[in-house]
Amino acid sequence: MSQQSYVAAPPYSQAQPGMGGYQGGFGAGPPQPLYGHYGGPPQAFAAPPAGMTKSPVSSAAGMPPPPASNQYNPNVQQNGAHPQRYPAPPAASAYGQPLQSPYNSMASMAPPPAQQLTNQMSSMNLGNYAPGPMQSPPTPTSSVAQQPFQTSLPPGMGQPQMPPGPQSPHMSPQMSPPQSPLASMPMAGPPMAGQQMAGQQMAGPPMAGMGRPFPGPPPSGPGAFQQPGPGAFQQPGPGAFQQPGPGAFQQPGPGAAGPPGYPQQAGQFGGLMTGPQPGMPGGFPGAPGGLAGPPQKKLDPDSIPSITQVIEDDQVKRGGQVYSTNIRGQVPPLVTTDFTVQDQGNASPRFMRCTTYSLPCTADLAKQCQVPLACIVKPFANLPKNETPLYVVNHGETGPIRCNRCKAYMCPYMQFIDGGRRYQCGFCNCVNEVPVFYFQHLDHMGRRVDFYERPELSLGSYEFVATLDYCKNNKPPNPPAYIFMIDVSYNNIKSGLVKLICDELKTLLENLPSEEGMECSAIKVGFVTYNKVLHFYNVKSALAQPQMMVVSDTAEMFVPLLDGFLVNYQDSRAVIYNLLDQIPDMFADTNESETVFVPVIQAGVEAFKAAECSGKLFIFQSSMPTAEAPGKLKNRDDKKLVNTDKEKTLFQPQKGVYEQLSKECVAQGCCVDLFLFPSQYMDIATMADVPSHTGGSVYKYNNFQVEIDGEHFLRDLRKDVQKSIGFDAIMRVRTSTGFRATEFFGAVHMNNTTDIEMAAVDCDKALTVEFKHDDTLSEETGALMQCALLYTTINGQRRLRVHNLSLNCSLQLSELYKSCETDSLINFFAKSACRAMLNQPLKSVREILVNQTAHMLACYRKNCASPSAASQLILPDAMKVFPVYMNSLMKTAPMVGSTELSTDDRAHQRLLIMGMGVEDTRLLLYPRLTPLHNMDVSTETVPAPVRCSEERLTDAGMFLLENGHSMFLWLGQAIPPDLIQSIFNLPSLAHLQGHVCALPELDNPLSNKVRSIINGLIEERPNSMKLHIVRQKDKPEMVFRQFLVEDKGLHGGASYMDFLCYVHREIRQLLT
Ligand SMILES: [Zn+2]
Repeated sequence: MSQQSYVAAPPYSQAQPGMGGYQGGFGAGPPQPLYGHYGGPPQAFAAPPAGMTKSPVSSAAGMPPPPASNQYNPNVQQNGAHPQRYPAPPAASAYGQPLQSPYNSMASMAPPPAQQLTNQMSSMNLGNYAPGPMQSPPTPTSSVAQQPFQTSLPPGMGQPQMPPGPQSPHMSPQMSPPQSPLASMPMAGPPMAGQQMAGQQMAGPPMAGMGRPFPGPPPSGPGAFQQPGPGAFQQPGPGAFQQPGPGAFQQPGPGAAGPPGYPQQAGQFGGLMTGPQPGMPGGFPGAPGGLAGPPQKKLDPDSIPSITQVIEDDQVKRGGQVYSTNIRGQVPPLVTTDFTVQDQGNASPRFMRCTTYSLPCTADLAKQCQVPLACIVKPFANLPKNETPLYVVNHGETGPIRCNRCKAYMCPYMQFIDGGRRYQCGFCNCVNEVPVFYFQHLDHMGRRVDFYERPELSLGSYEFVATLDYCKNNKPPNPPAYIFMIDVSYNNIKSGLVKLICDELKTLLENLPSEEGMECSAIKVGFVTYNKVLHFYNVKSALAQPQMMVVSDTAEMFVPLLDGFLVNYQDSRAVIYNLLDQIPDMFADTNESETVFVPVIQAGVEAFKAAECSGKLFIFQSSMPTAEAPGKLKNRDDKKLVNTDKEKTLFQPQKGVYEQLSKECVAQGCCVDLFLFPSQYMDIATMADVPSHTGGSVYKYNNFQVEIDGEHFLRDLRKDVQKSIGFDAIMRVRTSTGFRATEFFGAVHMNNTTDIEMAAVDCDKALTVEFKHDDTLSEETGALMQCALLYTTINGQRRLRVHNLSLNCSLQLSELYKSCETDSLINFFAKSACRAMLNQPLKSVREILVNQTAHMLACYRKNCASPSAASQLILPDAMKVFPVYMNSLMKTAPMVGSTELSTDDRAHQRLLIMGMGVEDTRLLLYPRLTPLHNMDVSTETVPAPVRCSEERLTDAGMFLLENGHSMFLWLGQAIPPDLIQSIFNLPSLAHLQGHVCALPELDNPLSNKVRSIINGLIEERPNSMKLHIVRQKDKPEMVFRQFLVEDKGLHGGASYMDFLCYVHREIRQLLT
């Protein structure tokens, strides 16, 4: 498999053209547009639709008298069991409690045993590789020891000072910063602590419990508030992935060309950084010939950092615990870890996850390390059943209380002063009057007496009921509508797809989502069929038979009927049944093979306009729209462009009518979901353009056959229809002074530089927001962000969903590296690379990814790691598996640049990535490979996954691999017949013929368990997955192998080991 010829691109050592468009972390991109600065004149939240907003605060003066003090109760809908979160507030107790259990124990936990690879590595025979100049043993006096590293205190950031005390592996300064500032500034009263009056000592536990911004003085015993897993960072600590053995990771490359030298710490990175990089011919590190010599002296693959191990370790360390969000800058457990979130003042990591939880204080530091500063926001993330749904707060006629200047919403970061009559905004520092009705006295701590009764004062996430000011035309919105638009051209009729859809809709419509407590869904439904013309159906409940109206003039699309097109399903059930029964027959004899597409979407938008509602279009289409109509497409696929500078054009959507249509859809709150059933090229880059700007999803079933793919498609459709979702949404990310959101990656539309518009946003869609400094950040006050999402519920209520998060800021880069979140970093890089590939050659994009990887790690090595031989590769503990993911990213279909992959598949995956959350990108880039042949069938425990490498497969084994989109059951050649018998009811592997896409339901423990694991995964993931069964050495195994991401890529791309060696060499060059 790995012999696959990969066409070597010019070496990495080339100058990097086209760097301009790509904003790698801190690249020298095109000049940034000037963003509205915070603290400027007030701006309405929802700028675009005129009249949609006005400052509710302005009317505050004329407020009705304050309601009774228990106002919280009448106005707050409790969406779930009332947590013990709002007990009568003896200030300390409420929050004091949880703190003690999980965190004390965690924090005081000794760091996991250092991942000293030294021993293993030293046994490797690496003699082959020419010892580089740096191959001195790890003594303090080695060349590296002279490298500056962060031993000491803040001021000299990045400036090497005191030579490292030879044996000071435990750099205490790295541990202490979280605490030290606190001691010196008692009050600092930043955001979360907003309740204290200046001058008060924030002594004692109560404060600490209150979402103290600082990992403050432990209420009990030292170390109680250490950042989770801080110790883990210590050098030569765990994860330091040391390969000290003499020359352990010596690069084979002759070390020839003069190293370019580590760019001065000044911020000249982002693209410019690397000079020549010798010895890496081939588009990818590790491409054949890249690493000289006989393939590695078989390094022990177990010696390099393992994702499965990292996941398992985190699960052991933090799994099953309650994660309280009361500490600023606290790094949450991994996305893969099973934990319970208790909101205590910061948004759950399910809603917001950051690339690092400690921002560098200055732009210079940020440039120096090149670690992107970003937050991945999943505003509608599903919460597990044991976590409380968001509370809904009603501030009455005036609407939610907001800062007069920056318009931030009332939140835990507002500090009440002046006896409770005024409050200072944590974002812009503006002092605001408290509206009369909202007045409340402060307790001796300076905290409002109703602190625990108001979610907006004490929680990280909550919702406000939005007033008419937040509604289009000052009118309450109508409930959204779903329109099902079925392509009834020849292919779809013949394949049986149309009948399949119509049959399914009958049951599906019974289960439309409804607001909790509602008997039936408020969502209206409508039906359209189309080929070259469109057919609208009147399904008014009063009719005995549905009526069809045909619109053949697709150039000027209109909706021929208003009354009876969008109906309540329950009312019109009989007519709709009738219609769904008739549709397959009506077109049974069709010869029409051409379709239109843009007019179909246009019709949906017009229908929503007429009905004054938002909603979603479900479009089922099997071919490229070639009929004469707006948006007609022609085949522009051209494999010759792959690996050229023009490759990007394959992924750029056709402009013109599609672009305009996206805007119209967003303006109307019309989300488009596309279900595609292609048998050939469809120009997905263009067809999926509207969905990808409207918060929609695109599903694709190549060469669809009802028998084989039907169930897979139906599962997707059901999931999609039932997803929790908000419509006609607009989001704004506000930040405290010193930094701001500058880039947004997601299935969204931006009319201006700050308002993120989404026709809809569902529970699986995430938006990645990048931040840049525009001033110096303060270690004391930290960095605050607030995401406010205005949207319409499926019930037609206008709401504001607010997520708040506070991060630490530090002058110590070591703090940043310690607080990194690799899964979030990967999400950022995946999205930024997928966007960048629209504007520049893939080769440049990949180069930037590699360079930035090396740079981030080199900066750590230089500034934060303890001295060691250059031959050691030392990775920050929080980023030790970062290289595996980066390497895998470059091997994904969109990034790999192979003519063997279909352009549509690549375009599709590119668009998928743009909307993904942290968990999804993580799993996509590192599939889960689970051995099923030797599991204990007597328990429910799912076996631990193994590393994604061929070496982990065994001839007698059975493995399940899935990445959220594809799923394979791999069967080894020598698999015992009784296993095959148990799973397939066949005597042996040889009897397994044809296309099996589901396991037979056999009543034996193994079959039950295997099917239960598979079904569990299908259930759990956002997309349903089709099960592919592959036998070792069969041809389809090739498809499976490309998911073994630690191995050399099937279509190009290095093995993990080779990549790590390459990156290591890059790092060394940067350090010399
Ligand atoms: Zn403000």
